[in-house]
Amino acid sequence: MYKLANSIRDYPWGSKTLIADYLDRSPSGAPEAEMWIGAHPGAPSVALLDTGHTRLDEVIDADPEGLLGPRSRAAFGNALPFLMKVLAAESPLSLQVHPNREQAATGFAAEEALGVPKDAQTRNYKDHNHKPEMILALTDFDALCGFRSAAETKAIFEALVTSFRETGTESPKVLHQISCILAGADEPTSIQQAFAGLIRGGDEVSRAVQATAALLKSTPYDGPHPAALKTALELNEAYPGDPGVLISLLLNRVSLRPGEAVYLPAGNIHAYLHGLGIEVMASSDNVLRGGLTTKHIDVDELLRTVVFMPLPVPRLAPTSPAKGHLIWQPPFDEFQLQRIELEPGGRSPELPAGVPVLVLVASGSGVLETRAQSFELGQGDSAFTGANETPVTLRAATEPVVAFVATTGIQEPTPH
Ligand SMILES: [Zn+2]
Repeated sequence: MYKLANSIRDYPWGSKTLIADYLDRSPSGAPEAEMWIGAHPGAPSVALLDTGHTRLDEVIDADPEGLLGPRSRAAFGNALPFLMKVLAAESPLSLQVHPNREQAATGFAAEEALGVPKDAQTRNYKDHNHKPEMILALTDFDALCGFRSAAETKAIFEALVTSFRETGTESPKVLHQISCILAGADEPTSIQQAFAGLIRGGDEVSRAVQATAALLKSTPYDGPHPAALKTALELNEAYPGDPGVLISLLLNRVSLRPGEAVYLPAGNIHAYLHGLGIEVMASSDNVLRGGLTTKHIDVDELLRTVVFMPLPVPRLAPTSPAKGHLIWQPPFDEFQLQRIELEPGGRSPELPAGVPVLVLVASGSGVLETRAQSFELGQGDSAFTGANETPVTLRAATEPVVAFVATTGIQEPTPH
């Protein structure tokens, strides 16, 4: 069992206060976008040992069989298969999509063969792994997630054209073109064509974005999906003229309440807009961007990766095997997320056995116990327990405790 120190990524979209407030840490003063808890080599947690501090990925490298266990090793190899983050978005993240396993492996191998430096602006694949993910909202949490139906999007573009007409202004041709494309071929082809038209549209799309934003500012919009239009206007303030502003209208606009979750399979285009959440994902950093960014966009690779089939928002409901115990299991083997809430004197069920486990205490304090060891975790503290240390339980001493537990999705059922 290792107590961890975690690094905070200072991406510019991060909140300066949300993570610090939530975990009762002192804020750095800079944006604090993501706290990474795990062993991804990009920003591994550090195991705090009596003998000194060691990167968690190096701790695991020294004993993969013991710490990961045979089941995780057989399925995912010699690395911790999941990564947990506390994510705090003050402003929107870029529109993005994550590759499937085959795309990631092929893309990574190709870039390695070409000798593209891993930190190059134009590099698409940082590792060979896919990156399915899920996010559990801790505050109200807004996101764009997957495509709505072509018919619904068409209705929005038509309402915009009507608004232009009513104000006596000529509407940008792009709006009419997208509306026609969406009326045409079958889904997902029509959505793919509309998306490609916008992202490849250059100055003409940029002018259409600006004109649409000016219209929305000056004239009340009374078409369908007003929240999506309000979001588009906000996105244009952050990224004026970006094609992602109009692309956002193709996507489901999701508002999660605290405790609600969505999962994001490979190919799902999405953007987190605002809020604090716990994110869990396969241990990868592979992102293809599709707008709302100043970073590199590889349009061809993006179009190969995005799944254009419209889908309902992939909400994820937890199961509750016991009072105060919730489990979110997305349809991926690499990870699941649990939330454990205990009253003073309470004890959790045994944490998943025979697999690696990450624990983060979000509030209160508790004692993490194995047969050999125990230590106290206060608010904001986190720990890693190896597969060979089970059974592990969390106990609340004098205070209540709320903890999040990330582990693999392949495990033996937790006994109760
Ligand atoms: Zn993502």
